[in-house]
Amino acid sequence: MQTTNLLIRQFQFSSNVAKLIQFANKSGFQCSLKECLRAPEMEQIYKNRGQSWLVNPNADKHLNSLAIDICFFIGANWVQDYPTLKPIGDYWATLLSGNVWGGSWGVRDLMHFQAV
Ligand SMILES: [Zn+2]
Repeated sequence: MQTTNLLIRQFQFSSNVAKLIQFANKSGFQCSLKECLRAPEMEQIYKNRGQSWLVNPNADKHLNSLAIDICFFIGANWVQDYPTLKPIGDYWATLLSGNVWGGSWGVRDLMHFQAV
């Protein structure tokens, strides 16, 4: 039952990522998809490097394919500033209650989009 629920959440997450990409394209951005599913071993490597600050690594939505990292470009320029990307993050939050954009965190992760 729990597996079925996870699969349904992954289907919903994937559909919302597609909507996010379409929204970004209509807003003038191109997208380069990065990491979605992350193996626990990779999470540990990131933690050792100081690139993952989760207290409980099992809470990482990447471990269940419920998070994705996306780089946004205008032309060939990788956009990495919060004000420019905020409308995309705001749109993500409208797609499903509980959706979180990493740009809204204290330590901003502008590429990161996750579901509940
Ligand atoms: Zn991420």
